[in-house]
Amino acid sequence: MRRTFLGMPATAPRGVGHLRGEEPFPAAARRGLADPQLRRNLGHATTTIRAKSGAVIGELPDWQALREAGAAIKTDVLARLPELLEQLEVAVTAAGGIVHWAADAVEANRIVTELVAATGSDRVIKVKSMATQEIGLNEALEAAGISAVETDLAELIVQLGEDRPSHILVPAIHRNRAEIREIFLQAMPGVDPSLTDDPPALAAAARRFLRETFLTTRVAVSGANFAVAETGTLAVVESEGNGRMCLTLPETLITVMGVEKVVPTWRDLEVFLQLLPRSSTGERMNPYTSMWSGVTPGDGPQAFHLVLLDNGRSAVLADEVGRQALRCIRCSACLNVCPVYERAGGHAYGSVYPGPIGAVLSPQLTGVEENASLPYASTLCGACYDACPVKINIPELLVHLRDRAPHPKAEAAAMAAAAYVMDRPALYAAAQRAARLSRFAGRRGRGLPPPLSGWTIGRDLPQPPEHTFREWWAQR
Ligand code: SF4
Repeated sequence: MRRTFLGMPATAPRGVGHLRGEEPFPAAARRGLADPQLRRNLGHATTTIRAKSGAVIGELPDWQALREAGAAIKTDVLARLPELLEQLEVAVTAAGGIVHWAADAVEANRIVTELVAATGSDRVIKVKSMATQEIGLNEALEAAGISAVETDLAELIVQLGEDRPSHILVPAIHRNRAEIREIFLQAMPGVDPSLTDDPPALAAAARRFLRETFLTTRVAVSGANFAVAETGTLAVVESEGNGRMCLTLPETLITVMGVEKVVPTWRDLEVFLQLLPRSSTGERMNPYTSMWSGVTPGDGPQAFHLVLLDNGRSAVLADEVGRQALRCIRCSACLNVCPVYERAGGHAYGSVYPGPIGAVLSPQLTGVEENASLPYASTLCGACYDACPVKINIPELLVHLRDRAPHPKAEAAAMAAAAYVMDRPALYAAAQRAARLSRFAGRRGRGLPPPLSGWTIGRDLPQPPEHTFREWWAQR
């Protein structure tokens, strides 16, 4: 039986791409809930990250002021996004880069594929990037005969395991080290068969595999955490150094960046480079922060292309309530505190953006009717709002999107009937008396009849009180 709650559409349309799942959230979540290993892995990982993050955030007396500043800078960016993007284009071009504008995933994939093909290379190395996952770049390149090698360790685990990422920051969070060892043994070329599941041994095996690829690949593809409009500087933050190898060794660098990643000035990075590591990995600063502006003769890639990706973002921007989702810096703090994410896992969200931010961003990027169950993937507890370093009011957005989602006809009929009854005092009093009779129906009386039964499948119907307020009032 499908578990449906009042107001939640029973199905989500099927679609291609990486912003939509093949099934609605409740159906996909049931698989995650039934997997005890997944729940153990997720519980352990999110608890560890939460503790680390909480400790380093607690060290900063001005954390709340930093959050305010981050939110204010992003709000300003969204208010004048076209102007800042044009400023960025001028600055990147002046520094020797080439800027491309992509309206959607299809156009972005075509641009990148043509750029790689023009270099004559049939392989690219990749820096971890949510934007390229969102557009399905690896699949588009593969279709053109170009292989893409993920160099972030967790992304590599996902790629070798022919799996899907389940966390923004830790894509293989659903895997434990024994599972990772199995994946390496089965899919990593040249791996030592005596490999153990000791984390340093696993990291060393990945390093050996990647080193050769770094040194022999001429094209790299990255995303960007930030782009500074005034200087044309792109920034990538990461923990392993593999990203920096990609950003410095190849001859050609192609960066795909969502348009909302621009910040006005270099000084603005001061705020985000404090907010991001503490919220994401629980570190005081990122181990590797790479920045580049265009090209520098004799130093690093000699050709740089920046692909500015819309893919639904303009539509999000047009919604005055919804646009705050574009402030997101992809730190994943909201995932790590979310009780729904921790139990259901990232795959249940269908999109590459899981957890609370995925529940509000994906439906907006695709149009809420194509991801209609996601705004319901929350208890509205508010932990995500408290954790978010740029103060995105995710519960407010969830309610906003629930309002905009298509609603079942049965719900509209039930609401119309309720309004009719509540508008007529005698009828309302009679309905209350009738409801009280259900007290005598015992446990069988806890549910509602179809089509309202969806509401009571997952929750108890409250027992009607012995006396209504009107009766209590009349007695006095
Ligand atoms: S919504 Fe906030 S907490 Fe969640 S990933 Fe984005 S910035 Fe981080």
